[in-house]
Amino acid sequence: NNEEAAAKAAAVDADNGAPTIFDKIINKEIPSSIVYEDEKVLAFRDVNPQAPVHILVIPKLRDGLTQLGKAEPKHVDILGQLLYAAKIVAEKEGILDGFRIVINNGPKACQSVYHLHLHVLGGRQMKWPPG
Ligand code: 5GP
Repeated sequence: NNEEAAAKAAAVDADNGAPTIFDKIINKEIPSSIVYEDEKVLAFRDVNPQAPVHILVIPKLRDGLTQLGKAEPKHVDILGQLLYAAKIVAEKEGILDGFRIVINNGPKACQSVYHLHLHVLGGRQMKWPPG
């Protein structure tokens, strides 16, 4: 559909290292519904939820992680911390009986924000395969 095509087109040349909307969320320049926060990680509700629970888990410091495909050995700790934060979020939201972690990587996966983020989705029966 049109929305998907637009997202794809916007995503194609988006990994240019420019600041993203998530910087403003981290700096609390724009409001978000924060679910979890620690020194390294921020988790907040997706503005366009695709499930009853849809939370984004991001590193506060992007450090070159515009997408998972840019990960280097120096990122191993933060990658683990993000995944563990996703578990804490799932627990807090009461969805440990069924949740999904999604990372859209690059234009072919419809990534639209070039600051690494894990989607935590749940609160309904998830389907497989995903679209
Ligand atoms: P991607 O498509 O890159 O995997 O996911 C980006 C996500 O960020 C989308 O699900 C989109 O709804 C969400 N998003 C984009 N802008 C904002 C915003 O300003 N606030 C919040 N809470 N979510 C946003």
